[in-house]
This record gives sequence, C-alpha cells and structure tokens, in this order.
Amino acid sequence: MLHRLLTSCLAALTMVPILASAEEAHVHGEAVLEIVIDDAGALISFEAPAIDIVGFEYLPKTDAEQAAIDEKLALLAQIETVVTLPANAVCMVDQSHVDFEAEEHDGEVEHIAFHAEFEVECSNAAGLTSLTTSVFDHFPALEEMEVEVVSPSGQKGASMVPDRTTLEL
Ligand SMILES: [Zn+2]
Repeated sequence: MLHRLLTSCLAALTMVPILASAEEAHVHGEAVLEIVIDDAGALISFEAPAIDIVGFEYLPKTDAEQAAIDEKLALLAQIETVVTLPANAVCMVDQSHVDFEAEEHDGEVEHIAFHAEFEVECSNAAGLTSLTTSVFDHFPALEEMEVEVVSPSGQKGASMVPDRTTLEL
C-alpha cells in the first residue's frame, strides 16, 4: 500500500496518468483514502468511482458532461472536500493533484475513477491525531470510504460511513 501511494504521488508530480490494473477494479459506492503520516506532514490520496462522483461512468459525450467532470475536479481539488485535519496540527497543502482516469480493457472503458492527492505540510505533525471527512455530504452516492493509515506508530485500516465521519489516527 505504501509503495502504491508513493508511486501514485510520484506520478502526480510528473503528471503521468496512472493506469489501474483490472484486478484493482473499484467497488461502486466505495471510496478509498490512503494517508501516510510522517514528522513533517502527510500524503493524502483519495479515489472514488466516477458513478458516485458525477453520476455516470463513461467518457464525456457532451459539453454538459465535460463541464460536470470539470466541476467535480475543481471541488475535489479543495482538501476540505475530502478531509479536515485538526487545527492544532497547523497544516497547509503544499501540492495537490486531481484527475479523471479511465480504466480500459481491450479498448473498452470498464471503470472511471476520480483521484485527488494532497501533500500536506504541518508545523505540528504530532497534532495529526484525527481527521474528519465531508465526502458523504458532497457525494451522497458514496456509502463507505475505506481508509488506510500509515504513520510512525504503524499501519491500520478503518472504514468511514455517513454516520461515522471522524477517525482517530
Ligand atoms: Zn466503476
């Protein structure tokens, strides 16, 4: 998981599209959040099926569909849409990247995902003890968000749902 996150962040920095393999096909209704915390801040990576973000999962055919995608990308480019970190950690977004990625199989689009990645610098990273999410407010079709956290104290997984939007890190 760590390797995958680092790979995707490197790709984000170089603006190279990430090609997901068919084995990693997402589950509709379910987002994935990966967080790697160190003593300087965190890398935060969010991925969700396009159907849950924009209501369709095919390449845009109309200007209206393209505009809808652009609007959701702009929304996801704001970290507050995805996560809110504790104020006393004093974090700022250093770099961010969003994309709309089609997964093809034999030339046919099978799935499309939205990605958002944030590199966050915190002047008090020790204050990164919890996070809250607003994704279920912004994207009501999402039913669950699987969370993977890697921090100096170890690795853990958790699940967030509309009734449980705060996670202890
Ligand atoms: Zn899909």
